[in-house]
Amino acid sequence: MDPLQELRDLSTPRKGPPCALSHVNLSGADLAAFQSGLVDPAITSKAISSFLQKREININFWTIARHRRSECGCSK
Ligand SMILES: [Zn+2]
Repeated sequence: MDPLQELRDLSTPRKGPPCALSHVNLSGADLAAFQSGLVDPAITSKAISSFLQKREININFWTIARHRRSECGCSK
């Protein structure tokens, strides 16, 4: 295999089920804050994890970090 193509293939997210973030069940202002926070580089993945934990949703920060890098099953 062409080594450059190999690198490209390795960069493509593996297809799989959507990660835990696709099951987050928030509404109203919480949902809006969550969605804005995910795309805001000033908001850390740990902060989002704590935010969710306070709402009894347990998702590890590395799951959130992976999601933000589009390395989870949610990305097409
Ligand atoms: Zn995801």
